[in-house]
Amino acid sequence: MVIRHGRNLVVADDSRRLIPCLFRQNLGQLVCGDRVIWRHTGDDEGVVTALLPRTSLLSRPDYSGHAKALAANLTQLLVVAAAEPPPTGYLLDQYLVAAENIGVEAVLLLNKADLLTPNHPLRRTAALYSEIGYRVVEVSSKKMTGMQQLRQLLQQQTSILVGQSGVGKSSLVKALLPDLEVVIGRLSQTSGLGKHTTSYATLYFLPQSGALIDSPGVRSFRLAITGRRQLEMGFREFHDYLGQCQFSNCSHQQEPGCALTNAVAAGEIAAWRLRHFQQMAKRLERQ
Ligand code: GDP
Ligand code: ZN
Repeated sequence: MVIRHGRNLVVADDSRRLIPCLFRQNLGQLVCGDRVIWRHTGDDEGVVTALLPRTSLLSRPDYSGHAKALAANLTQLLVVAAAEPPPTGYLLDQYLVAAENIGVEAVLLLNKADLLTPNHPLRRTAALYSEIGYRVVEVSSKKMTGMQQLRQLLQQQTSILVGQSGVGKSSLVKALLPDLEVVIGRLSQTSGLGKHTTSYATLYFLPQSGALIDSPGVRSFRLAITGRRQLEMGFREFHDYLGQCQFSNCSHQQEPGCALTNAVAAGEIAAWRLRHFQQMAKRLERQ
């Protein structure tokens, strides 16, 4: 398993021992989370000889618009939101669309539960996400409440935390990985990257089971949506209505006989979910 990637690759073996490895150029781009075949070339070094098939791939567009792979074999996206700073629903929905598109489960993680009053509007938003089939988990990395449930959620999974700045992602990582500094130190030594270690996507094994992939780049990851069909599929409660519009090429903006607009009028789909879809679709057209 590739736990660090950059110019310097570090592989973890089954007993989680870290081995710096060389890899052949013809293997293509190896990323954090990749599973590989490798062999020892010395006591403390190895060579990667093959890349195993990936179950998912997270990538982001680089400055020239090309997709750059960030992490592989992710199974779960934890979308973090908090009462402070208040979430922009649009951003939450973007993350959920991204998760649907790369085929990984998304969970809404409400951090700073200590600030969530019983009637807080965020609870209403969360209830709707729960209704359309997303798991919602409340935690407080400050008061350490809900942490047991969060740890359970992370078992057997490879997860990442995403969400806007200030919602408590780094606090959560610290809470989940109490020996983070030690691990980073060990990795810096193994990879020869020194202090730059944290600027690359890194896979951290969690104390019980499961892993967390983290880096500033991963935390602020956003998917570039490439087509309207992809966007439609990203809204899971829309699925049953797709193909039911009067016009087969309906853009769900203001056409007559739009099944989604009708579903909103009938109270079956939240108006703001359709609005976010429409905003994302407009942005897509401008690309
Ligand atoms: P990030 O930008 O998402 O990584 O957020 P940080 O982890 O840096 O946290 C931003 C701020 O929120 C810091 O001042 C934290 O102390 C605070 N914070 C984090 N978790 C909690 C929490 O559970 N409750 C409260 N009240 N504050 C928190
Ligand atoms: Zn329509």
